[in-house]
Amino acid sequence: MTAGARQTYLNYINGQWIPSSTNQTEPSINPANIHDIVGYVQQSGIEDLNAAVEAAGRAQPAWRKLSGPKRGEYLFRAADVLEQRLDEIAETVTREMGKTLPEAKGEVQRGVNILRYYAGEGMRSIGEVIPSTDSEALMFTTRVPLGVVGVITPWNFPVAIPIWKIAPAIVYGNTVVFKPAQETAVTAAKIMECFDEAGLPAGVVNLVMGKGSVIGNVMAEHPHIHAITFTGSNEVGKMIAQKAVARGAKYQLEMGGKNPVIVLEDADLDRAVEATISGGLRSTGQKCTATSRVFVQSAIYEPFKRRLLARIKELNIGNGLADGVWMGPCASQKQLETVLSYIEKGIEEGATLLCGGRRLDDGEFGNGFYVEPTVFENVSPDMTIAREEIFGPVLALIKVETFEEALALANDTPFGLSASIFTKNIGKMLAFIQDIEAGLVRINEESAGVELQAPFGGMKQSSSHSREQGRAALEFFTAIKTVFVKG
Ligand code: NDP
Repeated sequence: MTAGARQTYLNYINGQWIPSSTNQTEPSINPANIHDIVGYVQQSGIEDLNAAVEAAGRAQPAWRKLSGPKRGEYLFRAADVLEQRLDEIAETVTREMGKTLPEAKGEVQRGVNILRYYAGEGMRSIGEVIPSTDSEALMFTTRVPLGVVGVITPWNFPVAIPIWKIAPAIVYGNTVVFKPAQETAVTAAKIMECFDEAGLPAGVVNLVMGKGSVIGNVMAEHPHIHAITFTGSNEVGKMIAQKAVARGAKYQLEMGGKNPVIVLEDADLDRAVEATISGGLRSTGQKCTATSRVFVQSAIYEPFKRRLLARIKELNIGNGLADGVWMGPCASQKQLETVLSYIEKGIEEGATLLCGGRRLDDGEFGNGFYVEPTVFENVSPDMTIAREEIFGPVLALIKVETFEEALALANDTPFGLSASIFTKNIGKMLAFIQDIEAGLVRINEESAGVELQAPFGGMKQSSSHSREQGRAALEFFTAIKTVFVKG
């Protein structure tokens, strides 16, 4: 049976699709058209969470006993199922959170690739031999799973983020309790269907839908969840960290960004403009790596600004399912209101609005959460729009005289996720790589984007200083044992 029967999506606990104990559901609506209900999702209570944690705990001993390559086989199968359902699941992603269909397809394909990457991880080394001072001894490290891992994810990458957490968690021998963002819980159920169809043993992955303030909150303090991995806001992330520290659980947080791009006077202007638009406005600016602050050297400030504004005028905004649409709506009413309130603050605090700034609500737009792509200039470093994460299609243009000034301003933020620079000067590139305070450093490329085989994560308040993806995931999802053997 699939979770999707009658358009009501169920929790997946111990290999069974079951309704929540509260018997309450809520609609997941399409942000491009609020009359389109994507499905009804569960509003679970603590009882459901406990059942999932118990199932994950029961499944873990047998799962960890399987060899890594054997666990990897399940991931290869899940990748095949996801790939077969790519078009359908991508359409669900677009309907549920609003990104355009090509972007959604790219994301599902990424999910497939991540599953295959971690399937291969099941065969790679998990330790090293270290020379002992005792010539008759063998000293080496090995890695063991942590136990039950809690996975809490946001709505902005509803396929890629859950998979980049769940796939490494299980391939290294952990079992999982997964709480997706409620806005994208239908997509989450479809991911679980893929694991189910791949034949994963009951209890290895469990899905509990429900509000973060109810389920997520308790996950952070649940004594039988041994580690917790989270992506979302700083506010929630810090709260999870405090709860995890209090009970000695391992935790990993990926949070916000206020990502800068620096455009120097020798830059390829067209390229810099295209990358600023793509990095700042694709996915309606709802990426943690989205470009937010654009520092442009004064000699090219005016031509850069002219080209940027001209190109933004050409962007096609609309329902992400329609052909040729470049930018969809904000993912939810809450997100739309957040973005509009930041725009208002920008105006109030004295920044100059160059384009956009309004909710789009005429005709078909009135049924969705659309906002115009927005650009401000005369933004000073202490303004709210220069300091806080907006998570919407809003760019702040800031004129600078020198590279050094741009670098200092770019670093003047509590965040440190991604940063990019456009220049042909190798010395400036090297100085940027060395001195920018960001976990992802991008040269002549937009700030958004990361490859799945490379570590991903931020400095300062953007993360808990650990990294996800690539082999870096091994660090979080396993514990090291140092072994000393003497015959
Ligand atoms: P949240 O941090 O609230 O949500 C992320 C996840 O955490 C969701 O699954 C949510 O559940 C869950 N959650 C919410 N409250 C708690 C809690 N008390 N304990 C445990 N889990 C909880 O982000 P929002 O969706 O509200 O977005 C707010 C802002 O966060 C955005 O404007 C953006 O700035 C930032 N953000 C950053 C992201 C990133 O990729 N770094 C992604 C998303 C948001 P549920 O939604 O079901 O209630």
